[in-house]
Formats: sequence, C-alpha cells, structure tokens
Amino acid sequence: MRMSSVIVYRKMHVKGMALYPFILLRHEEMKNDAVIMNHERIHHRQQLELLIIPFYMLYLLDYLVNRARYGNHREAYLNIVFEREAYAHDSQMNYLGERKWFAFMKFIGRKRKVR
Ligand SMILES: [Zn+2]
Repeated sequence: MRMSSVIVYRKMHVKGMALYPFILLRHEEMKNDAVIMNHERIHHRQQLELLIIPFYMLYLLDYLVNRARYGNHREAYLNIVFEREAYAHDSQMNYLGERKWFAFMKFIGRKRKVR
C-alpha cells in the first residue's frame, strides 16, 4: 500500500480530509481504516488531475450549487461530484489501480441517494 502523509488533528469537525499531499484525520486509529484511507486517496488523485487549486474551487462551487438545489448540507455534500466518486468506490481497494483518468466526470449530473 502506498504511504500518504497523515496528520492527526482532533479539532476537525469531519472524520477525514485530503489536502494533497496530506491526509488529515480526526483520530490516529483512522490510519488503520482502509475505507477512510482509500476515500482520501481517491480525493488525492482527483486533486492531482485538477492541479490542486482548481479542485478546491470546483468542489466549493459544486457544494454551493447543490446547497441551493437541495437546501441542506448533507445532500449538498454527498452530491459533490468528487464525493460521489469517492463514496461509490472507497470500499473497492483496487479502485485506484484500475481507475481511468478523470473518472469523476462519470458522476456529473447524477444524483446520489441519501441513506
Ligand atoms: Zn470525501
């Protein structure tokens, strides 16, 4: 498994966050959670494809559009294109080995069902 630089930050309000080349986690033990780590690594790949800064701009823009569309944080967040790809594949451990470039584009225009 490829190593990523992990930073533990307990005050974070989310479980994990990918800030290339770092993965921020709220708790040290989350390093051992293969699904969380895979999820954040999928975001790293997306960030590299979009040369980092444009990723964050598109991520925020997609969130704001979704927020206006769905009217709540959870649906807005889960329907961000980058989150849709990451949640759809984070439990598939070989995903990054098989993933095609810009695979997140397949998720544009789809709506994720909120569990
Ligand atoms: Zn995510």
